[in-house]
Amino acid sequence: MRFASVVLDISTRQLDGAFSYAVPSELEGETVVGSTVLVTFSHRAAVGYVVAVLSEPPEGVSSKKIQPIEQVLAPSAFDETAARVAAWIAREYACPLVEAIRPFLAPGQKVRVTRSSADAPWELKNERAGAVDARWASLAPEANDFTPVRAASRQRAVIEALREGPQRVSELAATIPGAASAVTALAKRGVVVVEARRVVRGGDKTTLSSAAAPRPERLTRGQISALAAIDAARAARCGDVVLVDGVTGSGKTEVYLSAIERALADGRGALVLVPEISLTAQTVGRFRSRFGDDVAVLHSRLSAGERFDQWDLVRQGRAHVVVGARSALFAPLADVGLIIIDEEHEGSYKQDKAPRYHAREVAAELARARGAALVLGSATPSLESLQRCRAGSFRGASWTRVEMPERPGTAVLPRVTVVDMAEQFRGGGRSIFSAPLVAALRGVAERREKAVLMLNRRGFANFLMCRECGCVPECPHCSTALTYHERGHMLACHTCGRSWPVRAFPDPSTSCPNCGSRYLAAFGVGTQRVEDELAMVLPQDVEVIRMDADTTRAKGAHQRLLEQFDAAECAVLVGTQMIAKGLDFPEVTLVGVINADTMLKLPDFRAAERTYDLLEQVAGRAGRGQRPGEVIVQTYWATHPAMRAVAAHDRAVFLDAELSERAEAGYPPFSRLANVIVWGRSEKDVRSVTSELAEAVRSRVGMAAGWEVLGPADCVKSRVKDQTRRHIMVKAPVDADLGGLLGSCVTGLGRRVGINIAVDIDAYDMM
Ligand code: ADP
Ligand code: ZN
Ligand code: ZN
Repeated sequence: MRFASVVLDISTRQLDGAFSYAVPSELEGETVVGSTVLVTFSHRAAVGYVVAVLSEPPEGVSSKKIQPIEQVLAPSAFDETAARVAAWIAREYACPLVEAIRPFLAPGQKVRVTRSSADAPWELKNERAGAVDARWASLAPEANDFTPVRAASRQRAVIEALREGPQRVSELAATIPGAASAVTALAKRGVVVVEARRVVRGGDKTTLSSAAAPRPERLTRGQISALAAIDAARAARCGDVVLVDGVTGSGKTEVYLSAIERALADGRGALVLVPEISLTAQTVGRFRSRFGDDVAVLHSRLSAGERFDQWDLVRQGRAHVVVGARSALFAPLADVGLIIIDEEHEGSYKQDKAPRYHAREVAAELARARGAALVLGSATPSLESLQRCRAGSFRGASWTRVEMPERPGTAVLPRVTVVDMAEQFRGGGRSIFSAPLVAALRGVAERREKAVLMLNRRGFANFLMCRECGCVPECPHCSTALTYHERGHMLACHTCGRSWPVRAFPDPSTSCPNCGSRYLAAFGVGTQRVEDELAMVLPQDVEVIRMDADTTRAKGAHQRLLEQFDAAECAVLVGTQMIAKGLDFPEVTLVGVINADTMLKLPDFRAAERTYDLLEQVAGRAGRGQRPGEVIVQTYWATHPAMRAVAAHDRAVFLDAELSERAEAGYPPFSRLANVIVWGRSEKDVRSVTSELAEAVRSRVGMAAGWEVLGPADCVKSRVKDQTRRHIMVKAPVDADLGGLLGSCVTGLGRRVGINIAVDIDAYDMM
């Protein structure tokens, strides 16, 4: 008799973990790790996933008491190694095991059990976006000796069409009326063969012939050393990490392509992660042009059926290169030799719903478990990755940084000017454009070139800022910017929970706490206003194209606007952050950043890092062609290290300042930080549960070195959909089992009706 450990598909912390079931002999063949099964759990039917198969009953349990597995509902979706990684995710990110298993399941295949009333029988509900077969018709050799009767014109037409090659019956029917019955008649006479062929959805649409990746004649020195480091990491087979730290346009993609070729030559596969937003036809095309049909693509814009087909290609071993968004990590690629994460600094690699994992960390664990190498690429690597490379190792794997400081060929980096907007204001400038930016824009119009203007939309709401000195009132305890709440006239700190009536700070309509200026006010500009002011500054024959959440809502609008910009003779593209990435137009000679510093004031310790990354990215859009580029960055905080670093093309200016600040304040990469959010309709209950939880964590942590519990405090978004949101933040040493501790504290609270708790380990979103 065999026994299976089954994780029930019921998400509650109270039922967390695996339960034992007996495997009836007739189900022994199908009951393997990764299969979906139907079981009974405390008198109800439940769907579960097998995570282990054992030959002995679990210790202390009599095999007679163990209930049998009733039915196997779906074949295996993951193997034992994946099951171990899921268990790691559950502990690391403090989520129920089943939530860590779900990402590994076949897309669009979920089975649920439901019943219409308390005494009705349980029924299986199947999503089943499963495989689809198409009927294909082709000519049999007999067709050569076959002449249809004169009246059978349809049969003649079908045979004629099939002489060009096999076709789908549905396709024939679309062009030849009555083709389906003609095919049936011809098949009966043995002239035509009809067979079912598996349809693979989601593969062809994303191919672009223009997105070829020609093999360069010779690799750059940086590329050669990056590949050597990756070779060593692959050979070590233990999850070693290589950080490819290469400026934009330095040829990182070519490094990925060559590394994948070498992994494939070893008979192993590769997972390639790119941020969802840059997962365009062009990106996918570059991989397809090198690896053809060996590539499967997985991302959220595919339909469930398309995702299933791509996933299934991988499971069947028909594709060995998986290109996708963060969820591609969970593709059923058995022999992973290489995992690549492009733009590894991107915040979108952190999932914002359970399981709240970071793709970089799961990739590192997966690489360790599968004996693969992990390659991280970026022009602005995260401080976490840089710090691990400095240390040389992390969690038993070696971390190596390889620099690629140059672009192949002769392309040069653009000149960057930082304009101090407070100085402009004092000099009488009231426009949202500084004098240097206006001059540069007019130059672009005269030379009939193109410009990109970026408006940073994040961080605008709810801040008071002095227009003369740029000062924003800060919390004296946390040095995070205070947010202004019109209701009650309060300034609040969302880190420690303290708040002050505005009176305690100088009145927002009268004066600045720093310089006494009267121009202290909530401050905000929209893309619409930029567009309007542009019309006053520029001649009429310059096309202005606006790209923001409003103008890109319709499907395909994003692409259309870019094409319009591409086709224009002389144009300015005005947009939000979304224009910073992937935009590659050689005619762009000017990039203007309207407000570089709004993000700096967010109550988020990564605010400066995000600002720097964004500026570096957007600056990389200028001067990609023959003509030199210019970048103008407008800011109220010209002395900030992020601004100075971008101006000098010297990341060290930013890194040195930022790292010492993080070290002093005890923030990552020198600690781990968790954000625990509690929300619900009853403010009273939310408050009491948050306090109770803070108490529980504090008593567990005690006086341990490196641990700190902050809060409870209201979240920045303190009310969402009529629910009150409070949070606590927990700092811990870098090697701490933060997930384990917080998970058990939350489980210890028991079930609280009407209360939701999210444990966000290594949080990115502090709001
Ligand atoms: P990154 O991903 O680092 O931004 P890309 O991989 O997009 O850079 O490369 C930028 C450009 O340089 C591409 O057009 C690419 O084809 C080209 N390129 C890459 N490697 C080489 C090389 N060794 N020699 C010449 N051109 C190269
Ligand atoms: Zn504070
Ligand atoms: Zn001031």
